[in-house]
Amino acid sequence: AKLDGRNTFRFFTPEMQAQSVRALQLENALRRALEREQFHLHYQPQMNLATGTVRSVEALLRWQHPQLGPISPGEFIPIAEDSGQILQIGEWVLRTALAQLKAWRSCGFPELTMAVNLSAIQFRQPQLPELVSRVLVEFDLPPDSLELELTEGVAVDDPHAAVATMDQLHARGVRMSMDDFGTGYSSLSQLKRFQIFKLKIDQSFVRDLGNDSNDRAIVSAIIRMAQALGMRTTAEGVETESQLAFLHEQGCDEAQGYHFSTPLPAEQLERFMRQHTAA
Ligand code: C2E
Ligand code: CA
Ligand code: CA
Ligand code: CA
Repeated sequence: AKLDGRNTFRFFTPEMQAQSVRALQLENALRRALEREQFHLHYQPQMNLATGTVRSVEALLRWQHPQLGPISPGEFIPIAEDSGQILQIGEWVLRTALAQLKAWRSCGFPELTMAVNLSAIQFRQPQLPELVSRVLVEFDLPPDSLELELTEGVAVDDPHAAVATMDQLHARGVRMSMDDFGTGYSSLSQLKRFQIFKLKIDQSFVRDLGNDSNDRAIVSAIIRMAQALGMRTTAEGVETESQLAFLHEQGCDEAQGYHFSTPLPAEQLERFMRQHTAA
């Protein structure tokens, strides 16, 4: 037990201790992960529901540690954010994803766009718009071939800075998507101020579309609101034909989920795209 400032004892259970040991272990391992090439990207298609083709792919980070095995981004990204390592890792993700996009655009998918997840920490860097433009130029890609996925948390600490960054990225022609829409804070007031290209409807609303009429009402309202505001919609976590049918009928633009494909290594995703190109 440890004495904290208010003269009360705080007890650490063995599980809590094991958790913090694991976090420390991962933080140390993360420091070497980039140079040891332990990261790679998987790609998941976002299907255009009007044409049945792949409009965009989302890059999802994977970490394979030689001893610890595969570690999920849900576990290591918060650790990388706390230690600041997310900046270097995030830049690697951006470069690697855009290099892959360049390759795909020049071998049969000239209209494809790439979605890259951005941490709120990256978003708070004043150099971010400059970095993004530089990498786009490096790969000779048009700015609107990139979609940056942000969560609603980006503007919590400093809404003015967030709006300024958003405006700069928008002015450079980069598209921004609001990820996990509906789960964060002050969604609607943010929508008013942000230059958002696309809303990604969180998978928690999609999961029970089949038997929850509240979820159906929420999803259909999000789609209509987005349409009225001139934004596109992508439904996340689409796993069944009936979810897809409902989304299509409601006018959702795109869908992403295991119903179409899990996130895949580049070669496999390329095979998937060849099977889903317009005739
Ligand atoms: P996200 O951006 O909301 O990504 C969607 C997550 O849902 C992914 O988990 C994906 O594999 C999973 N998913 C896709 N389709 C389905 C489905 O039909 N059903 C279910 N149950 N799940 C589905 P993943 O790859 O484990 O990533 C988790 C989170 O980690 C991401 O959530 C994102 O917030 C973060 N992340 C991943 N890659 C990066 C990255 O490069 N940078 C940053 N900053 N965050 C990342
Ligand atoms: Ca995302
Ligand atoms: Ca999401
Ligand atoms: Ca998420």
